[in-house]
Amino acid sequence: MCGIFGYIGNQNAAEILLDGLQRLEYRGYDSSGIGVVTHDNQAITLKAPGKIQNLSSVVTSSSPQATVGIGHTRWATHGKPNEKNSHPHTDCLNKVLIVHNGIVENYADLKETLLKQGHKFSSDTDSEVIAHLIESSIADGCSFESAFVNAVKQLKGAQAVTALQSTTPSYIMTTRIGNAGGICIGHGNKEMFIASDITALVPLSDTITFLEPGHTAKVSQSNIVVHNAEGRLIRTKPQKVVHHVTNAGKGQFRHFMEKEIAEQPETILAAIGGRVDFRSNKIDLPEISLTKKQLATVNRIILVGMGTSLHAGMAGVHMIETLSGIPAVAENSSEFRYRNPVVSKDTLVISIGQSGETVDTLAAMEQAKLKQAKILTICNTDNSQATRLADGWIPMRAGLEIGVAATKTFLNTLVSLYLFASYLGNQTNYLADSFLNNSIESLVKLPDQIGQIVQEKKVYLDIATKTHEQTNLMYIGRGIQYPVALEGALKMKEISYTHAEGMSAGELKHGPIALIDNSLPVIALAPKDHFYDKMLNTMSEIKTRGGTIIAVATDGDTQISKIADYTIFVPACPYLLSPVVTSVPLQLLAYHSALARGCDIDQPRNLAKSVTVE
Ligand code: GLU
Repeated sequence: MCGIFGYIGNQNAAEILLDGLQRLEYRGYDSSGIGVVTHDNQAITLKAPGKIQNLSSVVTSSSPQATVGIGHTRWATHGKPNEKNSHPHTDCLNKVLIVHNGIVENYADLKETLLKQGHKFSSDTDSEVIAHLIESSIADGCSFESAFVNAVKQLKGAQAVTALQSTTPSYIMTTRIGNAGGICIGHGNKEMFIASDITALVPLSDTITFLEPGHTAKVSQSNIVVHNAEGRLIRTKPQKVVHHVTNAGKGQFRHFMEKEIAEQPETILAAIGGRVDFRSNKIDLPEISLTKKQLATVNRIILVGMGTSLHAGMAGVHMIETLSGIPAVAENSSEFRYRNPVVSKDTLVISIGQSGETVDTLAAMEQAKLKQAKILTICNTDNSQATRLADGWIPMRAGLEIGVAATKTFLNTLVSLYLFASYLGNQTNYLADSFLNNSIESLVKLPDQIGQIVQEKKVYLDIATKTHEQTNLMYIGRGIQYPVALEGALKMKEISYTHAEGMSAGELKHGPIALIDNSLPVIALAPKDHFYDKMLNTMSEIKTRGGTIIAVATDGDTQISKIADYTIFVPACPYLLSPVVTSVPLQLLAYHSALARGCDIDQPRNLAKSVTVE
């Protein structure tokens, strides 16, 4: 979480930092700040609580003149999201400026020692200790560069730090400790840009040095010097990256989320395009880099992810087991990483994450790698830490997703998993060619089917008008619709702040049915599949107890409206692909409820787009 941006060059640093932070705002928007060093070696910090817009007014009215500086957009972990806790933080002398991503896990001990040494703290953050640690080393006679390295060595936990000293403004120090938060350095013409991710560097540079975990860089106008954690000089070579020009505006839409839901027919097409040969009915996933022989040795698949990615992985389990016959499970990365799982070289671990930076998922991948598993990642970001850790990847191809609640990345992950499961089944001779022919036909229909769903507005408005004041909702589904129920509830929680619980419909009688009364609307996923009759029975049990039912059902179903209070129809689709069509109404339902409740849909409170702290 949090976005770090740094600049050293000849242009107006404050403007460049502000601009860069705007592109990183999706990573955290509790507060933001910049720190620059003027030509007469004065450090100036400007901060504002809330969104970057607030900082923008502060910077504009002060307009500091400087050509070097660092900036930060915060997702608070320690200390309230107010001005004093905003980064950059400084030492007692206001000479050392630091911005920090992650958590200093041992900050309490460090702070106690620093306080005893007489340091004065001005914030409640964990991060501020870093500025004082650097100050301490400088007081002992170290250069800023060595003091930075000394300070970093004392920090526990995965994190990234960038720092600047007012008396040595010819360079910025930056580091990554572990896998929390990336650091990319964009090379310009006698200038360098430091950013948490490459999307923030899009208009500025296509020549990027990626900092690896454990590495520290001294960044000056024309030069980058990198050392590893042991102090050994590392030769780095900047990479040329192709920035995909994406439309970052909202266009006719009120929110990015609304736009991104509407874009899904196109993004699904992008996920399928070039991977499916309609003439030979073959699927090709060139980036997975695993040979037929390697795939043949896989005897177990573990899908790891968090939140929406985990839900997609849970649906992926059904796809993989059905289409390849290989046992599969989905697991929450934050649990997997700490439980010493049984993993061998014949295990394939598939990590799922939009940013490729989710700290728990990266740790799960590392854990699997230590045990020699093969690792694939499904990710929306090229050159992310996940793509670099994995043996191969399946790009989500969802394009830039700005709304914090994942929508098109979820659908594209489902499609990617389906493609992978079909490919695997085909490569291991588990699937008959005739299956692939049918499945390709169904895949190709998806963009049009999603197009039909997103055009519909009235039913969602009607339902949201009636239900948006409810404080609790329940989502139920069975089989592959169970993860869809979890995802639907998550969307509702994230953007409308309504308590929503997703569960397997089979679980209802084992306790949750006690909650049913006329104040708990139940969203029932009941497409025409082999669970249909069982879903009708469950809905009937809910109805008998006075519950209100909103059903998601297959076009042409005449039975369901006799039980459900509202029915949202979706086009017919094969079982394994059905989550792609049934999850879209749940996105729209969450969107319209949040709209009716007046919530900040694209930047919901307490959330950030990439979760780089544990
Ligand atoms: N732990 C730091 C704080 O609360 C940094 C959080 C972040 O990554 O934004 O200020």
